[in-house]
Amino acid sequence: MNEPSLKLVACPCCRAPLYSLVWDRFSSKWQVSNDSPPLGSDAEGSFMECRRCVRRVAIIEAPEHAEEPFFVAVRQNCRRCGAEGVTP
Ligand SMILES: [Zn+2]
Ligand SMILES: [Zn+2]
Repeated sequence: MNEPSLKLVACPCCRAPLYSLVWDRFSSKWQVSNDSPPLGSDAEGSFMECRRCVRRVAIIEAPEHAEEPFFVAVRQNCRRCGAEGVTP
C-alpha cells in the first residue's frame, strides 16, 4: 500500500500545475520536486514563474517546522487571480 507521495500545486492564474512536492519519508516533509520552477526572490518577496502563463506567482515561505517548504500566497498581485470574470 503506497501512500500518496506526490502533490501538485496549481497556479492561481491559469490553474495549470505550478510546482510539485514529493513526500520525503526520512524527514517526514514535502520537498520540491526537481522539475519544479526555481524559487526566485525580488523586492516583493519570493515568487515562482508559472511555466504556462509566465506570471509571477507570489510564494510564502513556510516556517521551519511546517510540512511544506512554501505555499502559494493567498493574495496575488495579478489582476486575473481570484477575480476571473470580475471587472473592476
Ligand atoms: Zn495571477
Ligand atoms: Zn499559470
